[in-house]
Amino acid sequence: MGEFVDECQLHARGGDGGAGCVSFRRESHVPRGGPDGGDGGRGGDVWLVADRNVASLLAFRDFPFRRAANGGHGQGRRRHGRRGADQAVHVPEGTTVRDRDGALLADLVNAGDRWLAAQGGRGGKGNTRFASNRLRAPHFAEQAEPGEERWLGLELKLMADVALVGFPNAGKSTFIRAVSAARPKVASYPFTTLQPSLGVVRLDDGAGVGPDSFGPDSLGPDSFEMVIADVPGLIDGAAQGRGLGHQFLRHVERVRVLLIMVDLAEATDRDPHEQVDVLLAELERHDPALAKRRRFVVGTKADVAHLDWDGPRLSAVTGEGVAPVLGRLRELVVDARAADEAPVHYAVHRPAPVGITVLRLAAGVFEIEGRQARRAVALSDLSDPAALAWAQRRLEGLGASQALARAGAGAGDVVRIGDFEFTYEPDA
Ligand code: GDP
Ligand code: MG
Repeated sequence: MGEFVDECQLHARGGDGGAGCVSFRRESHVPRGGPDGGDGGRGGDVWLVADRNVASLLAFRDFPFRRAANGGHGQGRRRHGRRGADQAVHVPEGTTVRDRDGALLADLVNAGDRWLAAQGGRGGKGNTRFASNRLRAPHFAEQAEPGEERWLGLELKLMADVALVGFPNAGKSTFIRAVSAARPKVASYPFTTLQPSLGVVRLDDGAGVGPDSFGPDSLGPDSFEMVIADVPGLIDGAAQGRGLGHQFLRHVERVRVLLIMVDLAEATDRDPHEQVDVLLAELERHDPALAKRRRFVVGTKADVAHLDWDGPRLSAVTGEGVAPVLGRLRELVVDARAADEAPVHYAVHRPAPVGITVLRLAAGVFEIEGRQARRAVALSDLSDPAALAWAQRRLEGLGASQALARAGAGAGDVVRIGDFEFTYEPDA
């Protein structure tokens, strides 16, 4: 079922760095102590991680924001802020990541593939780090660097794990709706009448089925998702003696597990075992491989069952027997996924751009972009002459003068970096 595409937007934000601290030693017998402000901690990174137990992008549609923890601020007595924790965002295998312009950034093909979606901001240096022979008492520190943030487009070719196979009226649609009803966030993907409808079922370890653990943080390694396909009209033709509709069977060809559903209600004129035999024969006629597919047979309408059946049974109406069936399906799906051969592509990783860029905003007005340049002016007190001198040296070191000259800046032009503005004065 490679043709169904699941899409969503994700906003990833790295944690902010902690600010550097301005502090001086204070001891009763030392009248003017030296600087002792500690550095801020780094913000955590946001990583996308391909996880075989995540089957859809559903969680992002409910809540697209993922952010990592902030770094701690530096403190006096040279205490550094703690590092912010990373955030691992679990996505299905086969998720592609694009930027806003549609350029491919990463293709997370295999379980375990990781991609850095948003970097945490670096922590600011404490005033201790600016001390030198020339500057014994720096009254400024570096500010926190904000975490990187961006919108990403995720896309997944949805692959159904389980197809429901049964005669019309066997209770397929009721079952998929019951599984959805037990967890309101289950997606139903509406297609035209000839298309299967897909439902995403999430199971949390220990919890069985339940909507309570749904949320931005619940998609961890303990969660399991599978996609179930209700294939309407699958055997309508067979019921009328015309054989299975092959255009519907096409949809189950690539499905990992078949859930064969047989009607146990009295109203059915076909014995449950006969139902199984006919269904399997029709599947095999379409594609011999389908007869060998992992499958699980369950009787439906247990609440009103009268036909003879000693296999497992469920009632989508009362809920009886549903959880064990989902548990068994999970086992079969995990098995089938593990047996899948690894796809042949590789993850694409694009390094983040570094360095500085000069933009000409208007005649005589330029802007310098780039994380390092912004950082150079991110000091706690730029009105402090020592801080300003430090920022200028740092911009020099990044090649700001040459870049401005190449962009056509002349003496007296205005240059902006972030919120900071200065006048360009090239060396004579
Ligand atoms: P489908 O054609 O296989 O999708 O079957 P449906 O889900 O549409 O169900 C056919 C009929 O059986 C409907 O009238 C349902 O209400 C009824 N039905 C389905 N499951 C159950 C069940 O577990 N118990 C009872 N009593 N009726 C059910
Ligand atoms: Mg139906």
